[in-house]
Amino acid sequence: VKMFAERPSNVYEMLVDSAKKFPTKEALIKDDVRLNYTELKKQVDIVADNLIQKQVKKGDRIALLLGNEIEFVLTVLACAKIGAVFVPLNTKLTANELIYMITNSGAKILITDSRLVKPLEDWLINSKFIPYCYLIDDHQPLKNMYSFKNELLKEPLESEPVYTAPLETEALYIMYTSGTTGLPKGAVGSHINAIHSCLSYKYVLNTDHHVRTLIAVPLFHVTGLIGQLLHVILVGGTAVLMDRYRTEPFIRLINAEKITFLFNVPTIYIMMMSHPLFKSFSYDFVQIVAYGGAPMSKETIKQLKTYFPNASMHNAYGATETTSPTTIMPKNYPVEKTSSVGLPVPVADLKIVNDHGADCGPAEIGELYIKGPMVIKEYWNNKEANLTSFSEDGYWKSGDIAYIDQDGFVYIMDRKKDVINRGGEKIYSVEIENILYAHPKILEAAVVGVKDPLFGEEVKAYIVKKPGEELTEEEVIAFARKYLSEFKVPKQVEFIEELPRNPGGKILKNKLIEMSMTNKS
Ligand code: ATP
Repeated sequence: VKMFAERPSNVYEMLVDSAKKFPTKEALIKDDVRLNYTELKKQVDIVADNLIQKQVKKGDRIALLLGNEIEFVLTVLACAKIGAVFVPLNTKLTANELIYMITNSGAKILITDSRLVKPLEDWLINSKFIPYCYLIDDHQPLKNMYSFKNELLKEPLESEPVYTAPLETEALYIMYTSGTTGLPKGAVGSHINAIHSCLSYKYVLNTDHHVRTLIAVPLFHVTGLIGQLLHVILVGGTAVLMDRYRTEPFIRLINAEKITFLFNVPTIYIMMMSHPLFKSFSYDFVQIVAYGGAPMSKETIKQLKTYFPNASMHNAYGATETTSPTTIMPKNYPVEKTSSVGLPVPVADLKIVNDHGADCGPAEIGELYIKGPMVIKEYWNNKEANLTSFSEDGYWKSGDIAYIDQDGFVYIMDRKKDVINRGGEKIYSVEIENILYAHPKILEAAVVGVKDPLFGEEVKAYIVKKPGEELTEEEVIAFARKYLSEFKVPKQVEFIEELPRNPGGKILKNKLIEMSMTNKS
């Protein structure tokens, strides 16, 4: 396995290094709170000391149910210092899903706020499984609930608490995958995983302490947590937090805070560019525009380029299991590579495997297997997933269908489970979606395979029109026909108001397929 030879020994050391090099530099900003590196480190140390005094030991789990708040960051870095394992929870999940993750991870502390904890209150009070619960706001705490400020941010007793720093191979967090496939699995991210991802971003995107990022994607997913927050702390830059994404304040903050580095899922860019306020600013100060988490259409990339004239564009492909980046598009890539997700990061080892388990040659299509120090070793407490998700030679099976061209650029064609099989002919939805996105009246498009008596499956497109636009099924089909071979042209087109998404913002193609079945009956 390739590794970065020079690296911090754990994630907390990244903060220590930056606080030494840039003591007065702004590290973290949220609303009117602005912490420089010295202040951030001081608060992290206080939280860490208090956790130790509350008997938190190395390996203990701490669940975090919060938006992008300062306290989220403090807890992450305090855990990193003392070897506790944080469990970031998706704030859009239902009570049952959250309870599953809290109990499955065996968390003994829950850090949240009075609004997000509401659906869990009955459970917290009545169940035998009672984690200590700390609220970041002091709004009427119930029994067993304490104030984060008074308990975890209070100056600790004089005696230096004793702890052993985590080894780089030890766990930093357990992050449950968004679950577009079955029950959520807890991916165990180690210090070494996170450090390698941060270093990959630093080297490929060429970032340093001048970098200023705006974190609007959730910190409970890898893009926000690793690609933005921890990466920026590693290089000594500045991170501005938005508790959650809202288009207008997002656009205003980019300008007010002179953000140089954007990293978001495609949907955010689409919403941002279609907002009337967006065009009233110029964005010459933005230097890096990165996108990932889902396929990004060529058309959206083209539009982004016109609005961010001085920025390099970087598609970044990865998953929770690869602690964020596996491939990143290099700066100044040749235009014919636009639909690629880029080159493997320096420490990644990729291969493409066909249906029979054999390695594919250049440009051959198969499943992408990924190995490297940024890939998780295991899922938490899940023998079955650990057995089926890794190959014997140590690769994680991504479930993505891809190919690698002769220059080493990687192309993601589809999720394995979403590939459309039309009478034996494999059709990859991304290719068709790319064409549809180029239509001037289409805001969003999702292509799925629906049951067909003759071919087994047929291509169906779900379309969200741009506001106020008129568009017919025939027009969409005629447009697709101009660019696609006949068998790939959608046979059905349905217009909908909004695409169904999971709490992580990913399009739920199985929901669309279900919808197509109920519509027929
Ligand atoms: P589950 O594993 O439960 O299905 P999920 O796959 O949505 O959830 P994530 O780890 O959030 O969980 O997402 C990783 C997936 O997102 C990748 O496997 C890939 O399909 C898709 N993806 C990520 N980045 C890109 C990108 N730049 N281009 C295309 N697809 C991407």
